[in-house]
This record gives sequence, C-alpha cells and structure tokens, in this order.
Amino acid sequence: MEKNKTEVLIDYNKCPPCSELVCIGVCPQGILEKGENGKPQVVDVLSCNQCGICENLCPVQAIILEPDVVLK
Ligand code: SF4
Ligand code: SF4
Repeated sequence: MEKNKTEVLIDYNKCPPCSELVCIGVCPQGILEKGENGKPQVVDVLSCNQCGICENLCPVQAIILEPDVVLK
C-alpha cells in the first residue's frame, strides 16, 4: 500500500530528550510515545494531521515534518 502522507522525522542527535517530552504531550493525535531509549518514537504516522505543533514547540527543533512523502 502506498499513501501520500507527512513523515515525522525525529533527529535523535538533537533530541536530549527534553525533560517534559514536550512533543509527546502536545500531539493531539497521540502518535508519539516514549521509546525504550527514553526518546519519542512515532507509533502511528498515518494519524498525523500535519498540525505542526510538535515541530513548533520542540525546544531544540529536533522534529521535521516532511509533507507528501510516499510511505510504503
Ligand atoms: S504534526 Fe501534529 S499530529 Fe503530527 S505528530 Fe506533530 S503534533 Fe502530532
Ligand atoms: S520536544 Fe524535541 S527535545 Fe523534547 S522529546 Fe520531543 S523531539 Fe525531543
């Protein structure tokens, strides 16, 4: 299945992670969860509505939204 959708990229080299895990808390779709490394992981990218909140509120700009990529 292919679908045009935003990809949510997290740059783990930039993400400390922040103590509040801001991105996980602010995502209205709940698609980010704390992974085993203590950093956020994308668990349901197809539910991302591209609102941009996570990208805007991450204190270190570690999240990049790439719209219209083709997910396979
Ligand atoms: S763009 Fe919005 S819906 Fe998508 S991961 Fe970020 S906060 Fe969640
Ligand atoms: S908001 Fe940014 S620094 Fe904080 S956990 Fe998410 S990606 Fe990492």
